[in-house]
Amino acid sequence: MKASGTKILFLILCLFFILACQEHSSHLSEKDIVIRDLPGIKEKAFSLNMSISTFAHPAGSIPQRKAKKMIEDELKQHDILVQVQSFRDETPTRFNRKYLRKKRIFGIDESKQTDEISQNRRFFNVVGYVPGKSKNTIVLGSHYDTKYLYHGECLGANDGGSSSAFLLSLIPHLKKALQEEKLNYSYLLVFFDGEEAFLQDWSDGENLHPFGQQDHLYGSRYFVNNLKNKQYKVNEQDSLNIAGLILFDMIGSKNLTLIRELNSSDFLYDILADYGKLLASHYLIEDSPFQPHDSIRITDDHLPFLEAGIPAIDVIDFTNREHWHTANDVMTHIERKNFETMGLILLNALPQIEKTLRKGQP
Ligand SMILES: [Zn+2]
Repeated sequence: MKASGTKILFLILCLFFILACQEHSSHLSEKDIVIRDLPGIKEKAFSLNMSISTFAHPAGSIPQRKAKKMIEDELKQHDILVQVQSFRDETPTRFNRKYLRKKRIFGIDESKQTDEISQNRRFFNVVGYVPGKSKNTIVLGSHYDTKYLYHGECLGANDGGSSSAFLLSLIPHLKKALQEEKLNYSYLLVFFDGEEAFLQDWSDGENLHPFGQQDHLYGSRYFVNNLKNKQYKVNEQDSLNIAGLILFDMIGSKNLTLIRELNSSDFLYDILADYGKLLASHYLIEDSPFQPHDSIRITDDHLPFLEAGIPAIDVIDFTNREHWHTANDVMTHIERKNFETMGLILLNALPQIEKTLRKGQP
């Protein structure tokens, strides 16, 4: 009796082990591939990336208005509703004397230095609405502002440009997938302004500046603060239920490497990584950029969404940072095949992501 009891217990444990293993492995097969090619996406994205990355356009600057207009015009070409969230926010003054002294940034023109601690600036989030059958909505996001440098200019070909160009180039393929009923949710393409810190480093606002405030994520915070019960108001009658965010940032590098970002919702990473593996195994993409066994924790525009209880992921390559926040973040380092790879992974994964969100996140 004792022996057979142990045997049964052993079998039950084996079964649990097998089930547990299965849960972590992908169940996907070729029938889960709903889109096999995205004609023209590489070329389109690369040319958009090139246009938006010919000039530096930090938040609050005059050139940023031109970048905003370029995104608006491109969205309108696809005959979709475009909205601009225009807002003002206080930002720490970059040339504040005390800050520069603490930070030891040398070579700044004396006449530029000031005792003022804050500056009120205007920001613009650009929102494109691609309606689906359901009011449940996934936000596909990217920031489009470029980093202020104290010396030289950052064109942000990878940081800001690549992900924005990617989302714009995706629109006709997203619309087609919705028309063919491969997707059911609605989609908001949101181009966030003011992701970058005005001060040199990400946390200088809180730590080193006399103004003492968070100096980054201006646009995404504004977007989330203006949702009411996770609802985004499209017009007087219609509201969309924001069910999740898939944020893209810095996806243009050669050797694209997407390790697990630890603030992100794990299930979103797992689904995208599974589809990367599936598409690579059927030779529809060269390699999957997802590397699930390595991880990193990053603060980005997904944080305000997560804090509001909205599942979110930051799809970011933070391993290739040779040109990051330098005057060398230029188109020469942009790999055009990444746009097709990411487009195929995303569009194939979206039905599964919709399904998982519908069931309630795991
Ligand atoms: Zn940046």
